[in-house]
Amino acid sequence: MQSEYSPKDIEISAQKWWQDNDSFRAVENSDKEKYYCLAMFPYPSGQLHMGHVRNYTIGDVISRYQRMLGKNVLQPMGWDAFGLPAENAAIKNKVAPAAWTYDNIDYMRAQLQRLGLGYDWQRELATCTPQYYRWEQWLFTRLFEKGLVYKKTAAVNWCPVDNTVLANEQVIDGCCWRCDSKVERREIPQWFMKITDYAEELLNDLDQLTGWPEQVRTMQANWIGRSEGVEIEFGITDSDNTLSVYTTRPDTLMGVSYLAVAAEHPLAIQAAENNEELTAFIEECRMMETSEEALETAEKKGVATGLTAIHPVTGEQVPVWAANFVLMGYGTGAVMSVPAHDQRDYEFAQAYGLDVKQVIEPTDKSECDLSSAAFTAKGRLINSQQFDGLTSAEAFDAIAEFLAKQQKGERQVKYRLRDWGVSRQRYWGTPIPIINCPDCGAVPVPEQDLPVKLPEDVIVDGSGSPIKSMPEFYQCACPKCGADAERETDTFDTFFESSWYYARFTCPDNEEVMLDERANHWLSVDQYIGGIEHAVLHLLYARFFHKLMRDEGLVTGDEPFKNLLTQGMVLKDGTKMSKSKGNTVDPQALIDQYGADTSRLFMMFAAPPEQSLEWSDKAVEGSNRFLKRLWRATHDHLEQGAVAALNVAELSDELQTLRRQAYQALTKVSDDIGRRHTFNTAIATVMELMNALAKLKDDSEQARAVVQEVLELVVLMLAPITPHICHELWTLLGHDEAVVTAAWPEIDEAAMKQDKVELMVQVNGKLRSKIAVAADADSKTIEAEALAEENVLRFTEGKEVRKVIVVPGRLVNIVVAG
Ligand SMILES: [Zn+2]
Ligand SMILES: [Zn+2]
Repeated sequence: MQSEYSPKDIEISAQKWWQDNDSFRAVENSDKEKYYCLAMFPYPSGQLHMGHVRNYTIGDVISRYQRMLGKNVLQPMGWDAFGLPAENAAIKNKVAPAAWTYDNIDYMRAQLQRLGLGYDWQRELATCTPQYYRWEQWLFTRLFEKGLVYKKTAAVNWCPVDNTVLANEQVIDGCCWRCDSKVERREIPQWFMKITDYAEELLNDLDQLTGWPEQVRTMQANWIGRSEGVEIEFGITDSDNTLSVYTTRPDTLMGVSYLAVAAEHPLAIQAAENNEELTAFIEECRMMETSEEALETAEKKGVATGLTAIHPVTGEQVPVWAANFVLMGYGTGAVMSVPAHDQRDYEFAQAYGLDVKQVIEPTDKSECDLSSAAFTAKGRLINSQQFDGLTSAEAFDAIAEFLAKQQKGERQVKYRLRDWGVSRQRYWGTPIPIINCPDCGAVPVPEQDLPVKLPEDVIVDGSGSPIKSMPEFYQCACPKCGADAERETDTFDTFFESSWYYARFTCPDNEEVMLDERANHWLSVDQYIGGIEHAVLHLLYARFFHKLMRDEGLVTGDEPFKNLLTQGMVLKDGTKMSKSKGNTVDPQALIDQYGADTSRLFMMFAAPPEQSLEWSDKAVEGSNRFLKRLWRATHDHLEQGAVAALNVAELSDELQTLRRQAYQALTKVSDDIGRRHTFNTAIATVMELMNALAKLKDDSEQARAVVQEVLELVVLMLAPITPHICHELWTLLGHDEAVVTAAWPEIDEAAMKQDKVELMVQVNGKLRSKIAVAADADSKTIEAEALAEENVLRFTEGKEVRKVIVVPGRLVNIVVAG
């Protein structure tokens, strides 16, 4: 055995062994319990970053641990390969996005392999290949037949100079990222998926996800945003038109002082015909950014339309305003405004001199000051005619009932969630499998004509998607009537690909169907791991797709991910590592210098997985030193020659204590890795054990037998975290089987038995002393020993002992008076 730890040789040879022996190949015909562990697959940006190293090491530790527990583990890896960066790189480097992407995949695959991650590489997939995306095209055509997808016009960001649509991230302070001209809103036809049809189920099924962080479930629930309210119809004065508004606060109906409609609302556009100010305002709103955040933060502006509405209870005239905070695409495009009880309405009313009419007062008789802000809490109704005196809850029912009788309103449950717009006017994505025929309209591409392949040999110059100017791509015959027709040249949102890849990993080689029976064998994913930034969109879309695939008969379960771990960020100098801040550390340099095991150990030791991890050169060196010590300890032990059989009956107290500590460590490490996922405390426990081992000065035959046992336990406990060094040491310690096939060690209850146990002694809840008592001592004996302790006496002297509580194996609490 080499006396020095030399990670490079060890790691390459361990990786070769795993590869030659197909160690991580997942098979279905196993009588072991299945375990599917998945870390969110990467975008092939070019090289791994530290966040990847952390993410994938966590997944690998869990996978290897579960394998040692005897599970049949599936841990696959692939590439979320479509997306905008490939187009940007294509413009910059004059290379086709496909070529750029495949090169990156090759490089990053080698990096992942160098980290020793135990993937079943036979299942690797890249979402930019027709073998993958043909199935989502197929699913889309199925959903088309079911009416779960539809086309409607929706706003996009448009650069008038480049003549192209911009993604939200390409709009910087309202301007085009390339030419800096002011971005406009433009309405173009786009495809939508009816995720709202599943809103209720997506919300209710969150209750099943007990293995998810509460925070993520809450974020999803808020995003789906279920509300109960009333849709109210206002008549328009001197007109047959009506305006519908939805409110969750019908109790404030008597306080309505104006209605607000979206600038693009037909009533506003009609009213603008003879109103220059309104026309200008509508034009201004048209230029506004489309993102919801932009709308929320923009200054609230409006113009009176000159129209008035008729209050459904009082018959009073209520002015109608066009306002920039109301969206046409959301709800009815109109809202009722109650300045006294809604802060946004309040600010708008203040700015434009509109009435503020209080109709709710606090139930606890507290002051209600409307001079600086709205009173938004619920309470009791005032100034509300026949509804006066009702509580908000009572008024909800009474007003809803009143409006229903008058046929001016009805109760409704609404969701904040909107349908998912999946059209992107980008090139590097999955072509939407639709043909537009002048006579038949939108016709899905028939199954036998799928996939619609994206041409890969193209030049991207930033002036829009190249397939939009390729007649050989878009010219085609209508599948229904044979007439000349045109293909869609838009591509899917790249969230499409990442919404079902977890399922395709179960059967990536099937060219006949999207999913086969293997999907039900492996799903749901037992442990999913990824960043908290995916808490809403990706995880919600994947849950939606799972339900779509279930309703298509492809999977049987309701949910894709049983347990979810959201890992924290990797920071340097307190902020997230990023190229723009110049505070990145290249994982490749780390691996080259210290090896994969040190990198993995540092990542797992530096912080619990959910928390952010602060980069530290010192901590990396510390991790490396620990592995060197482990190597050296094993070396020194083996140098002394053959080891005799362990004879427990012969062991000294010191050796018994060391064995006990080893098995106590095993108990803790099993719980830390298996249940708590606190790999850092597991590692700390193993380090403590190694310190205890280093203190042993006994070189008797039995001492060496205990050292052998402890080292084997250490190697097994570290095997999921630092698999290469453990692979090597396990063989050196005399095992024929590789550690990757070894079982997680069993706890030796006899070794854990203790003749004496240490108990904490508290006086009035404060720790004052510790006592060692016989493990089988009764309460009376323990009480007497505790009360006789010197330091305890200092706190009990002269005081009345009222009670002594003994918690066996843990503590004694003495309660004294005064
Ligand atoms: Zn531009
Ligand atoms: Zn046709």
